[in-house]
Amino acid sequence: MFLTTGNQDIEAGGMTHFITRFAPSPTGLLHLGHAFSALTAYDAARTAGGKFILRIEDIDQTRCKPEFEQAIFEDMEWLAINWETPVRRQSDHFDDYAGALEQLKARDVVYRCFKTRKEIADEITRAPHLTPDGPEGPQYVGERLTAAKERSLLAKGAPFAWRLSMARAQAILGDDPNKLRFVEEGAGPKGETGHIKATPEIFGDPVIARKDARTSYHLASVCDDALQGVTHVIRGEDLFPTTHLHRLLQELLDLPAPIYCHHRLITDENGTRFAKRDQSITLRALRESGVTLAEVRVRIGL
Ligand code: GLU
Repeated sequence: MFLTTGNQDIEAGGMTHFITRFAPSPTGLLHLGHAFSALTAYDAARTAGGKFILRIEDIDQTRCKPEFEQAIFEDMEWLAINWETPVRRQSDHFDDYAGALEQLKARDVVYRCFKTRKEIADEITRAPHLTPDGPEGPQYVGERLTAAKERSLLAKGAPFAWRLSMARAQAILGDDPNKLRFVEEGAGPKGETGHIKATPEIFGDPVIARKDARTSYHLASVCDDALQGVTHVIRGEDLFPTTHLHRLLQELLDLPAPIYCHHRLITDENGTRFAKRDQSITLRALRESGVTLAEVRVRIGL
């Protein structure tokens, strides 16, 4: 499915023309869905003579645990995957994401949001017609406070997140319809493929730096993809909608746009998608029960 890029596999001037990554979050043990994602990316890198990167996405320091990170390495070894070292662990690089946030601040495209979850939920209940559903829940649009109000809240030590002002971002980028496009070599959940126009407005004003983490998955992910020279983002189609926002962030931060290859999701015998929270059978459990890698590959259709 990703082989249209197979002729980019030559190393030219020391630059690898195919770099992909598997970027799990160590919030639980990996399952067959992760095995499919990791092996799909790894196989594509090998076919293209490119590089495969493993990245640990652990900005959520309350949910991520070192023992799950260790388990990721064990699972990857069991899957016979070789990855580039050193492995980038996002929690070691909060300063990089803070730097990207500074760039967004300099473009005046983010604002502080002091609202609590409850206040936001109440606003949404009062005016549901203003907040249609987006990929991360209701498309909430906040407001920038006056400088005086901000100063007083900051003086009280009130916690805040940084939200991206979608209206301001779109005003900066103007209405060039070709600017916010991306190439999809796989497919989104509705079969979206080819040259796709990004519609980041489906996110409302998304949180770009969380109250607790000083960054967000979106910001950290686009920064790292650029920093690590990722040319092909290969991941599950559940993450397809995030690409709309990632393209916008890349444009605002002057980062290159990788090619995207979203893949189908693996389901169990009942057609239910594997998920960490449902206690899906883990790779560790399969390994311990004597299942082989060859059997795993057959089970996930590789
Ligand atoms: N860390 C994300 C996850 O575990 C993956 C993000 C990505 O591949 O862009 O769902």
